[in-house]
Amino acid sequence: MEGVLLRIATGTILHETNTFCTHSTTLENFKYDTLAPRSVRTGYLDAKDFFEEFTRTRSVAGGFIDASKNLGFELLPTIWADATPGGTVSKETFDYLLSALLETLRRCGKVDGVLLGLHGGGYSEVHNDLEGKVLKEVQGVVGENVPIVTTLDLHANVSQLMVDIADVLVGYDTYPHVDMYERGVEAAEIIVSTIKGLIKPTMAMEKPPLIIPLQGQFTGKYPMSKLMEMAHAIEKEKAVLNVTVSACFPLTDCVDTGIALIVTTDNNIDLAKNKAKQLSDLAWSLRKDFLVTPTPIDQAIKDAMSLPGPVILADIGDNPGAGGATDGTALLRALIEAGANRTVVAVIRDPEAVSKSIQTGVGNQVTMKIGGKTDKLHGDPLEVTGYVRLISDGLFRHRGPMATGMEMRMGKTAVLDIKGIEVILTELRMQPMDLQLYRSVGIEPTEKQTIVVKSSVHYRAAHTPIAKKIIEVDTPGVTGPDLKRYPFKKVRRPIFPIDDM
Ligand SMILES: [Zn+2]
Repeated sequence: MEGVLLRIATGTILHETNTFCTHSTTLENFKYDTLAPRSVRTGYLDAKDFFEEFTRTRSVAGGFIDASKNLGFELLPTIWADATPGGTVSKETFDYLLSALLETLRRCGKVDGVLLGLHGGGYSEVHNDLEGKVLKEVQGVVGENVPIVTTLDLHANVSQLMVDIADVLVGYDTYPHVDMYERGVEAAEIIVSTIKGLIKPTMAMEKPPLIIPLQGQFTGKYPMSKLMEMAHAIEKEKAVLNVTVSACFPLTDCVDTGIALIVTTDNNIDLAKNKAKQLSDLAWSLRKDFLVTPTPIDQAIKDAMSLPGPVILADIGDNPGAGGATDGTALLRALIEAGANRTVVAVIRDPEAVSKSIQTGVGNQVTMKIGGKTDKLHGDPLEVTGYVRLISDGLFRHRGPMATGMEMRMGKTAVLDIKGIEVILTELRMQPMDLQLYRSVGIEPTEKQTIVVKSSVHYRAAHTPIAKKIIEVDTPGVTGPDLKRYPFKKVRRPIFPIDDM
């Protein structure tokens, strides 16, 4: 093979599906959501835009691109599709994306390998194991002898089918996900060594009956840090190629939901099985420590107004990054009632209120109902009177530790000042993961007493350095940590913590 450039195709279909959302995820979401790339306003990318979008970004695709240069292979992009986490992916949407991926893959001609960027937490109407189906169909195109390696989000619900088809599954090691780029590079290195016959990846997975609430998956502290320490120690052992701790996406009601411990060795299945079991036993022994008890709203606001600021109030019940409607009003209502000031609320998605703010115009007062419009799970619309401070196109670029360099879109955006509480009203759902979100609309977060973030854990990467205190608040919605509150029907039973085990 010397002298011939390896040809490796790449494709991405990313979705994290919260089956408790009232709305399904459609092609519109893949086309117009927050994370849809800028270079094509129609959302998913095809080959010609791929390099322009992802070169120099700390993303999985950015890692693939740099690895292709450093290792000297030709990277052949197909499609790249992502939508903000939300409800079940509709049949038409998944069919469309899958056929676009397969068609563009066929157009690549003969390839030596396929590098995918998948999430692992996808659930579609017909194919509940979305990624298993993608992998199987991709293998159908390239054949069983062509290696397939995929990255996975830390929130993947991994199926046996995924393990059987992929040569290696490379999951993120961090939550907040600050290692996407590194995992992209790692996946590329593994596939190149596999194609060259230098290694023979052999994977084993263990799945104890355990679901971990999102807030308990933060890798920066015990108990998740303890599990990751063991994973990293095993990864350093001879003959071990990769260790993936997939903490799970707890809000998909699916037979595969739950933590997965995956170990890939160089042609040693017994070692892989042994090490996966060792990790699984540790995870199981920590199960009660993964549970979190958030602070009631009234107590959280009392603390936020009395402690030195900035105090971060995490609205963990309504995180768009896990499917939340992003228009929950419970915290805002309580803050107004308590007379809070020097406060920012990031964000409330309400296209109607944005449009009313634009009509009202910068520098004018408006009275209107905001939030609580998506469903009945996030509190009622709240009548407010505020001053329209600023209107923006909602574009900004991440400068913090997560997804650095990636451009984000909030859609048309207005800042409404309600007696010292600045509410960022957006057209699209957006999880605050980077301080540029505030600065792009003229707000300096370090000068605030209270910052409300609709986020489970990702906010921590950028907000921890500026926070005097972080409080996880018990707010209504579809992303909170008490898994007994959700009407699970399809998960394996018994499973902790839904069942007492
Ligand atoms: Zn994730």
